[in-house]
Amino acid sequence: MIELPPDRPRRGGQRPGGDGADPRPLESAFVAAEPAPTGPLIGAAPRPEPRKGRPAWLEILMGILGVLALGWVVVIGGRWAAARLALALPYSVDRSIGELAAKEYDTSASTCTNPVLVGAVQEIVTNLEAGLLPEHRGLVVKVIDDSAVNAFALPGGYLFILTGLLQELATPEELIGVLGHEVGHAVKRHGLQRIAEAVWWKLVLSQIIGDVFGLSQVMADGALGLLSSAFGRDHERESDTFGLGLMHEAGYAAGTFPDFFDRLPASGLPDWAQTHPDPGERAQTLRAAIAAMPPPASLRTPPPLASLKAPCFGGGAPLPAAVPVE
Ligand SMILES: [Zn+2]
Repeated sequence: MIELPPDRPRRGGQRPGGDGADPRPLESAFVAAEPAPTGPLIGAAPRPEPRKGRPAWLEILMGILGVLALGWVVVIGGRWAAARLALALPYSVDRSIGELAAKEYDTSASTCTNPVLVGAVQEIVTNLEAGLLPEHRGLVVKVIDDSAVNAFALPGGYLFILTGLLQELATPEELIGVLGHEVGHAVKRHGLQRIAEAVWWKLVLSQIIGDVFGLSQVMADGALGLLSSAFGRDHERESDTFGLGLMHEAGYAAGTFPDFFDRLPASGLPDWAQTHPDPGERAQTLRAAIAAMPPPASLRTPPPLASLKAPCFGGGAPLPAAVPVE
């Protein structure tokens, strides 16, 4: 017995192929017809129409992509949440991490001791620190005998200035701006956030692929490196703005700070600028911010440039700080 599909009404009881009926040949009508039901016909539930449209392989592909997208949201969202959660920790955590890292970065043999140089740098840091909240004070600065053009900050306010950067200075204000920037990294807790993200990545990757041959460690480092180039730029800009404000509050004229970026070569950037935003863009942004600021209430004279370029070792009385800078 051949039954037409339940949703296809019989046309006056005519057989397919009859007058006024389905014009298809009888054979095709047989092929298209539903198989005979095995149960009683009266009262049987109508069979659902087979879904038409998307093929099965497309639905499977969409399912896989959906799962991957969900996983990506969880991973990226978790990374974001890890960084935010880190900010809920007390600042003393930053100090403990920074202290530990500063000990690891053993600079005892190359830490500059010349009181002229060390005194000049310390004077700047002390004046900048006065603009910080009490919880963020207690900055520690070291000048390191190293030809790399670099400066960096560890969590908790441990600052390192390399003599290679000092030799590149055209004005003391350039160093004050760089120091303000590094203080910004510490106060805004960028290092702690980076660490929290790294821990999250390692956790996720070790869950996915295990820790076979330390592969997850390698992948975590790689992933963090890729992400930090975009994420880190926001931190760099935030530190620029913060450092400029700190410099201004301490009474230092910021006008020549952006010049430091103008002198950075377009290629072969020194270490300090390699992970930072485009130097030209930074100089432009800083100049716009400086133009919008009122002049400091009272202008502070920075240490002379000669004292910042003094030899790393040796002795001598600090140069007078009142010498105006040309
Ligand atoms: Zn930076």
